[in-house]
Amino acid sequence: MDRFAVANALREMGRLLEARGESPFRVRAYDRGARAVEGVADLGRLVDEDRLREVPGIGPVLASAIAELHKTGRSERLERLRAQLPPGILELSLVPGMTRARIAALHQALGIRGLDELKAAAEDGRIRTVKGFGPRTEEKILEGIRGLATREERVLLYHAEREAEGLLRHLRSAPQVARADVAGALRRCEETVTEILLVAASRDPAATILHFSSYPMLATVLERGLDHCAARLPDGLRVELTVTPQAAYATTLHRLTGSESHLDKLDALAEARGLALEGAGRRGNGGRRPVAIKDEADLYRRLGLPLLPPEVREDEGEVEAAVAGDDFADLVTEADVRGLVHCHTVYSDGKHTVEQMARAAEAMGMQYITITDHSPTAHYAGGLQLDRLKRQWDEIAKAQENVKVRLLRGTESDILADGALDYPDSVLEQLDIVIASVHNRFRMSSEQMTRRVVAAMKHPVFKVWGHAQGRYVLTRPPFECDMDAVLDAVASSRAAVEVNGDPHRLDMVPRWLREARKRGIRFVISTDAHSTAQLRNVRYGVAMARRGWVRRGEVLNALPAEAFRRAVRPGTAA
Ligand SMILES: [Zn+2]
Ligand SMILES: [Zn+2]
Repeated sequence: MDRFAVANALREMGRLLEARGESPFRVRAYDRGARAVEGVADLGRLVDEDRLREVPGIGPVLASAIAELHKTGRSERLERLRAQLPPGILELSLVPGMTRARIAALHQALGIRGLDELKAAAEDGRIRTVKGFGPRTEEKILEGIRGLATREERVLLYHAEREAEGLLRHLRSAPQVARADVAGALRRCEETVTEILLVAASRDPAATILHFSSYPMLATVLERGLDHCAARLPDGLRVELTVTPQAAYATTLHRLTGSESHLDKLDALAEARGLALEGAGRRGNGGRRPVAIKDEADLYRRLGLPLLPPEVREDEGEVEAAVAGDDFADLVTEADVRGLVHCHTVYSDGKHTVEQMARAAEAMGMQYITITDHSPTAHYAGGLQLDRLKRQWDEIAKAQENVKVRLLRGTESDILADGALDYPDSVLEQLDIVIASVHNRFRMSSEQMTRRVVAAMKHPVFKVWGHAQGRYVLTRPPFECDMDAVLDAVASSRAAVEVNGDPHRLDMVPRWLREARKRGIRFVISTDAHSTAQLRNVRYGVAMARRGWVRRGEVLNALPAEAFRRAVRPGTAA
């Protein structure tokens, strides 16, 4: 078995363990292992030399399963798991209310092994004949099956991105696939998505679709056509693949990336030039010359525009701005970020020590990292009293002797109800950076909240407004305040705005980032990391910043260490 087949077998094992009710921790280990194996260039040699366990993410249990799969093409454990569980369990458990016990009962009584059989049995009224099932359950099951086709699951960007990674690797491992990419809202980096759209260039669509639908993380295939295939992942997220010949790849990728209203704007521009965008005939080309393009840059060039990156294709004024001469070429990228900002350690509610965080930042090639644990008012998050803060300074100094990455000391200070910050100014001024965040009393009136944040921004020390409106994507709406008034205060004070990379937060939203830019406000792209792994959050912060049109030159932590320190220094400006 090659590495991709091995990875898929591990994924299936993980999902079967999940269906059997194993701890999510063990289940995730299989998924992690699968991704690790896919990334191994020379699996055969690692197996032969018995060195699999050197690969991060592969422990002893996984190592022996991988070696067995690679050498024999089978796994005893996988076969045992398949035999222990009712057939079709992965697909059947997508239907709401279909527990493992119910699936087993229906298998035993009616021999049901998949969705089609379940549907037929429910329609024939056979389900109600099974002990423990009645006409109402039967109707519920039918409703659930109907809902599978139309149900909309909304998930966080990072979640969809992880799933898409596995899907893409699987697709790209097929010999007939020349290219494959994500499109849609995921490519545009929206905070949440309802589907993963994939595009593949292939000379053999049928084989590609067959290969795609064999991916074990697909819980069920909803629809299979000549050049497309729709499916659902176990968590209900919809996945859709479009297969296209190589020559039509760029147009297809562009069209499926959207957004619809961005495409409409481009259509209008094309029409004015007597051109028609892409052959798929979004609305018939009315005799205009279809544009043949080799890549997306080419398409925009034909319309007299610079390449607009996917993150700005929202019809929020980007086409007009491009026509007026903005080339969007200097949008901030991940490579521009030189320091990791807003990081928590074991001193407050983080998982890793100062030195562990520093080493992880160094491994990411960063020049500096700011340690910003919570302030005393955030007692529930282990906020640091003054004595512990000073002890942390000693620890930071000690850690600095062991690492090259520059350690900067800071705090995430609560913005108190009256807008004051949480340590005396004399302490704040001894720090390298102050992040000021609202962590409590979210339900103040908009007027009170505006007064509170404006007062904090006007505080004489330089501070970065942390996770602006305190939202949790999908679960907590942004708090109410007069954003224009607050941004005016930021612009006229010693302050900057954070673009929070925690995938659950991602504050500020693009619209307000653009408003902040208009006022000349500077940004910090943060991680809000509570562990070394979360230092990677910077990727989502960058994505949000790009959606807000933020430029490299507007990002303070794109500066080298010393210039950054000077720019955010809480004490009076030098
Ligand atoms: Zn916070
Ligand atoms: Zn934080």
